[in-house]
Amino acid sequence: MTITYHSTRSADVCYTASQAILSGIAPDGGLFVPSTFPSLDLNWRELPFLSYEELAYVVMKDFLGDFSEAELRACVSVYNSRFDSPRVAPLIQKGDLHYLELFHGPTLAFKDMALSVLPQLMTVSAKKNHLERELVILTATSGDTGKAALVGFADVLQTKIIVFYPKNGVSEIQEKQMLTQKGNNVSVVAIEGNFDDAQTQVKEMFSDPILAAKLSAANKQLSSANSINIGRLVPQIVYYVYAYGQLIRSGALQPGDPMNVAVPTGNFGNILAAYYAQKMGLPINKLITASNENHVLVDFFHTGIYDRNRDFILTSSPSMDILVSSNLERLLYLLTDGNTDQVKKYMTQLSTSGTYQVDAKWLEKAADFHAGFAREEQVNQEIANVYQQTGYTLDPHTAVASFVARKYQQERNDHTPLVVASTASPYKFPEAVLNAVSPQADNRSLEEALSEVKKQTEIPYPAAIEEALHAPVLHNQVVPTSRMKAEVEERLSV
Ligand SMILES: *Cc1c(COP(=O)(O)O)cnc(C)c1O
Repeated sequence: MTITYHSTRSADVCYTASQAILSGIAPDGGLFVPSTFPSLDLNWRELPFLSYEELAYVVMKDFLGDFSEAELRACVSVYNSRFDSPRVAPLIQKGDLHYLELFHGPTLAFKDMALSVLPQLMTVSAKKNHLERELVILTATSGDTGKAALVGFADVLQTKIIVFYPKNGVSEIQEKQMLTQKGNNVSVVAIEGNFDDAQTQVKEMFSDPILAAKLSAANKQLSSANSINIGRLVPQIVYYVYAYGQLIRSGALQPGDPMNVAVPTGNFGNILAAYYAQKMGLPINKLITASNENHVLVDFFHTGIYDRNRDFILTSSPSMDILVSSNLERLLYLLTDGNTDQVKKYMTQLSTSGTYQVDAKWLEKAADFHAGFAREEQVNQEIANVYQQTGYTLDPHTAVASFVARKYQQERNDHTPLVVASTASPYKFPEAVLNAVSPQADNRSLEEALSEVKKQTEIPYPAAIEEALHAPVLHNQVVPTSRMKAEVEERLSV
């Protein structure tokens, strides 16, 4: 049976995979969800020996029902060339935890795992649907999506990409990476606001009929590289299956045995992909969702109340500084057994009052999730402890999950093999890493901080770091949030 997609807010209209990828978000403002979940078509004993590329094909094929085998194989071949580890996503055991390193792509964060392949998926989708228009990728970023999307889409034919990021909400390296981006079709704009402001404006532009008409008249249409795009979610399922294969390979578990996962969470895309993997039959017992001090999700899992009416806190893990986790909508859809009216009500309440409460009977269905958060000092402590005990350096996002995972193991006495999604290279957040490990030295320049991290990790600079340090700055615009739409119109001349 071919999987189709429909909105979380109404099941009336069906879309093919390629149509859902091109649209990004459903016209009613909902997110695309698959009509059903395929079962993993895998022999567990062979799994450990599949290449990442091969596994990506096997896991993704049923979700991309209108792609031919040749088309999809060509898309996933990026895993063969763009990653600096032959394993793509190596699993590293340190003490009681297995770190799944998802940062070996071109921009040093896990966003590369999906954003390397999304442009290929979109290009094939455009051909398939005889799309003559130019696709405008409009993206709000809390730091990592922006650069990964810029690299993925730079100079891709028939596309333009515009990235908005919060001026004071990203790390210095993240900002440098974006501002030095080359390409004739790329724009990068800082906003005087936070990530939620940027994401809200972008979502509004997607459901703005007047803007859509103007774009259409100019032969253009919007699409999204944010994790609301199903073309980002599906590739993220692959690495959980891959991690399971590596656990079999190392003897940490036998085929069929359960594993737990812990994921540093912001927009809820990464952990949702783990939940999708579980739905496909991957033996995941616990899904541990870890937040920083912006712990709106933890409160939700504990009380059933989602309440974004609170201060937005800037932390050392900026990619998780989020109060509206978009992909939670896809979880609500599943928890309510596909009750699109109910999901729509919750989302309307969220946009009008900033809060909603789900019925206890729905929340009970989320029993496989465990939610916890780490305060800044706990994040620092986790980075320092892991470094002192094992010599391994965590970035602050991974440290949030590592802390929450360890606490879970201690409190629940659960010794199921636990995979921590390691979402960024420590090089991406050198100040935060050094702050934890050697807080004495203040006022380090970025170069000094990076060189310290190099000494500490004994890992040579990845190409992305050299480039961020030395490439010329090509973008410099800062605008108020209220100007975002005007910027888009100006840059596209519509
Ligand atoms: C985006 C990001 C996250 C959060 O992932 P979500 O899918 O938004 O929950 C965590 N860590 C890093 C380094 C990221 O870039």
